[in-house]
Amino acid sequence: MIRVLTEETINKIAAGEVIENPASVVKELVENAMDAGARSISIEIKGGGFQLIKITDDGFGMSSDDALLCFERHATSKIADIEDLASLTSMGFRGEALASIASIARVDLITALQNGSGTHVEVEGGKIRSVTAASRNQGTTFEVRSLFYNVPARKKFQKQASAATAEVHKLIVTLALAHPEMGFELISNEHSVLKVSPASGATFTQQLSTRISDLFQTSFLGTKLTAKGAEREYALEGILGTPADHRMNRTGQYLFVNRRPIFSPQVTRAIKEGYGQRLNEDRYPIFVLHLTVPPSLLDVNVHPQKKEVRFQEGEFIRQFVKTVVGQAFVGQAPIAEPVISFPETRESAMRESWDEPLTFREEPQQAPVLTSYEQVIGVFEHYLLLDGSTVDGYQPGIVWVDLQKVQQQMIYQSLNQPQPEGLAQGLLLPLGMELSSMEVEEFPNRQKELSRFGFSAQCSGKKSLLIEAIPPFLDETDAIETIRLILQSEEAFSPLSERVARFAVRRKKSFMLQEALTLWRKYKSLNSHEAVTWTGMHAIENFFK
Ligand code: ADP
Ligand code: MG
Repeated sequence: MIRVLTEETINKIAAGEVIENPASVVKELVENAMDAGARSISIEIKGGGFQLIKITDDGFGMSSDDALLCFERHATSKIADIEDLASLTSMGFRGEALASIASIARVDLITALQNGSGTHVEVEGGKIRSVTAASRNQGTTFEVRSLFYNVPARKKFQKQASAATAEVHKLIVTLALAHPEMGFELISNEHSVLKVSPASGATFTQQLSTRISDLFQTSFLGTKLTAKGAEREYALEGILGTPADHRMNRTGQYLFVNRRPIFSPQVTRAIKEGYGQRLNEDRYPIFVLHLTVPPSLLDVNVHPQKKEVRFQEGEFIRQFVKTVVGQAFVGQAPIAEPVISFPETRESAMRESWDEPLTFREEPQQAPVLTSYEQVIGVFEHYLLLDGSTVDGYQPGIVWVDLQKVQQQMIYQSLNQPQPEGLAQGLLLPLGMELSSMEVEEFPNRQKELSRFGFSAQCSGKKSLLIEAIPPFLDETDAIETIRLILQSEEAFSPLSERVARFAVRRKKSFMLQEALTLWRKYKSLNSHEAVTWTGMHAIENFFK
């Protein structure tokens, strides 16, 4: 039997697609405030947003007719027909968000076109409950309570309030970088978490630079490089970190296209290309960059949440972005770490990226068995060279054992034990570490992981940590960056233990013979023959011929 769904059901289904979590509600409401020409937007949440999300703006407000209409599905003031999409400048245009939010929460809207006389609309589960006159200054306030109260399935899968808060925080940071000319305040459980007033500055880059200093501690983009260029109707403008400022993941990358936060592997790659050989293959530059693209050459309709875009002139953009980023380094010190050219197989071994698993892709057809009569030829950088004819399964030739990978594998294994023993290594002098406000929030969520890895750290003061013990495989100098890695890593990336293992060993460029042999023996004793994954094992036949 075929049925036509009720409006209420349609809205709930749409809500399931658009409204994933409290952060998506905040995003829709803040974008509406931006579209309404707001100069300052205040975001208040309670209980991660599940209890309350309250967005107040000083935009142009709504008439009482519009205040009722805005909750209708496909009610929008932003486009009239399909042609308008080509020249779209607003954030929203589908007229779906408010209808969706109102169908899964209790919403209060108080809005006024001019100071004094306004309208208050109460909506619950998609139904208008009351419309009354209300007094407020020009602008709009949306209060969203009991999110997902009537969608038990969705509610069950929600993260904890603290994780939801962190997500909202991340979103506001991103939007604040998208719009330095606007003021933002985020209040969570009655505490002001973030507050930035409209950034001053004669140029956009100056405003952006002010905004960055207001938002982040100095270590993020402390030394700033400016990128600025325009060609045809395209423009790229923003702030770059120096090559030394790199990160182990993409957390320090903020890319905006026509003021929208965008995820674009294509553009990100072009930015990295602009850094050229100043940055190692497996490092991520940090940046806040704004790309302007003619709206008619951009398709933002790829995804309802508009995270992804499609460029009509992708190749042009790649060249343009790479060139402008490259120009930022003119006059800077040349390449920090020269890249040596290696024979093909080794080079591909060096090139392995962070997102790939620890094992090699090209494994030998038959896993050779290690024997105790292996002949050691010597050590070259971080490779142990064995005579292939003494390694079962190999032809005469040289077997290269990548000791970096062996060590990584061993750290990885030890971190993955249910209860790693004797990991924490007390420090004589505790290390101090500054935290960003985002990291302060993440700390309680990650404390268990940190101690499992062998860290012992405590908050000291509002924005700093005191590190009292570190894992034995880490240098003190790397401890802070590793904690940062743990606080900032996103679930989407490879397992944390793997990332920490890679990170701990990354700087170990060469080994002494004795050290290499000890490591290799230990590795073999811990890994039964079958368990040797051939990580780091590489036969390069005829290398010396
Ligand atoms: P869209 O943003 O796609 O148009 P929404 O459902 O988010 O759809 O909003 C519907 C309409 O409500 C908007 O087109 C706008 O006219 C009005 N509106 C929503 N929020 C605000 C606000 N903060 N200030 C003024 N008008 C608003
Ligand atoms: Mg909208």
